[in-house]
Amino acid sequence: MSELSPYSFFQSVEKSFDKAARFTTWDIGILEQIKACNSVYRMRFPIKRDDGTIEVMEAYRVQHSHHKLPCKGGIRFSDEVNQDEVMALAALMTYKCAIVNVPFGGGKGGIKINPKKYSSYELESITRRYTSELVKKNFIGPGIDVPAPDYGTGEREMAWIVDTYTSLKPGEIDAAGCVTGKPVSQGGVRGRKEATGLGVYYGVREVCQMPDVMEKLGLTVGVEGKRVVVQGLGNVGYHTAKFFRENGAKVIGLAEFEGAIFNEEGLNEEDVFQHRKRTGSILNFPGSTNLTVNTDALELDCDILIPAALENVINIDNAQRIKAKIIGEAANGPCTPEADEVFIHKGILCIPDMYLNAGGVTVSYFEWLKNLSHVRYGRMEKRFTENMNARILSQIEELSGKSVSDKERLFIMHGADEVDLVHSGLEETMITATREIMEIWKSNVNIPDMRTAAYVSAINKVATSYAELGIFP
Ligand code: GLU
Repeated sequence: MSELSPYSFFQSVEKSFDKAARFTTWDIGILEQIKACNSVYRMRFPIKRDDGTIEVMEAYRVQHSHHKLPCKGGIRFSDEVNQDEVMALAALMTYKCAIVNVPFGGGKGGIKINPKKYSSYELESITRRYTSELVKKNFIGPGIDVPAPDYGTGEREMAWIVDTYTSLKPGEIDAAGCVTGKPVSQGGVRGRKEATGLGVYYGVREVCQMPDVMEKLGLTVGVEGKRVVVQGLGNVGYHTAKFFRENGAKVIGLAEFEGAIFNEEGLNEEDVFQHRKRTGSILNFPGSTNLTVNTDALELDCDILIPAALENVINIDNAQRIKAKIIGEAANGPCTPEADEVFIHKGILCIPDMYLNAGGVTVSYFEWLKNLSHVRYGRMEKRFTENMNARILSQIEELSGKSVSDKERLFIMHGADEVDLVHSGLEETMITATREIMEIWKSNVNIPDMRTAAYVSAINKVATSYAELGIFP
């Protein structure tokens, strides 16, 4: 709960769930079971800091649903971590996985620390100790619960987790599948790092391809030329901005903790990133205008607004001032339920988090499958495809008497690499999920927004899986 929302984060997820449950026909008992957080593990453990003092850590792992196993969801390192937040994020993972047809239950973990205040040696011992606490209580494993990166964590932490787990479970053949988001050298998959940002791009692009939706918003079809603002230049925000820019959109605003910058001609996220690395701030980027309060970027006049940082940034306080036509929730829970009501009233299309930012967990699923199959994607078929394509091409050239350029030859012959297959699987996943949600939305005029339609999709899938298990008649 905060002065910006009368509900806690978990309550606001429940509120959105209840809003959608009215549009389903499931028994109240099934709905209650889907909503409930199955297991909450709160732990305390000591770590020794570099100066020799002992500090007690507060940490969590929540398994929201076991309707499919393993449970899946990231681990965040943040000062704001608390039980309610981890429960809410775990619940969102259940719905997210269901929507994109990734066969996992929802989970989430968190350690209440600001990682910037700890040395990498201290962070390593915190992460390793957290992992061993999870092992002790059977809260981690390739068939039990599989963490991943989230706010404040990345490949490095995942490498520590897999290393700790493997050393505690010698001989477990599928041990690499105990965590995803690992470096490629430690069993990671190519394409995981950019996955969430790329998924956000694919999801928004698919919505922008729908002529009826664009007409209602007064926008032209397609992403090209759209004016985009991205709040947060972490891994997700950076890659979202990159894919929009590379595909013809203009990123006119970027925001970080210290403030925001604006340039109607478009910003290059890599140049801004390098500028921030050099100067410690995105402000004063050549050719752009400074906005000293970072949330001011949310209120910029634009076509697409991408909040890619933390929850509750768009709330009752500022929702009325949002000028974007489309909001793409790259972060988890950036808009409160009160803000949703304002968007419905103002005709703003909010593409909801639990579907739009599912690219990360989708590619985590591919990584987990790779770990269980012990083979890199493309290894078996790449050469075969290339040889076959070369043969077909030479036949066509012989029959037609024409030959293609070297550049075209390479393009036509190319057999899929791991990254090609991962991107293609992600694109397929996001397009299918978008169409499923839109169909639900269009099938019932009383469904007020896309978030509610996404929840209906999630509820129907989770409930069906319970029903198929025979738990409920
Ligand atoms: N932390 C990411 C999310 O919130 C990824 C989770 C995962 O890959 O399991 O979706």
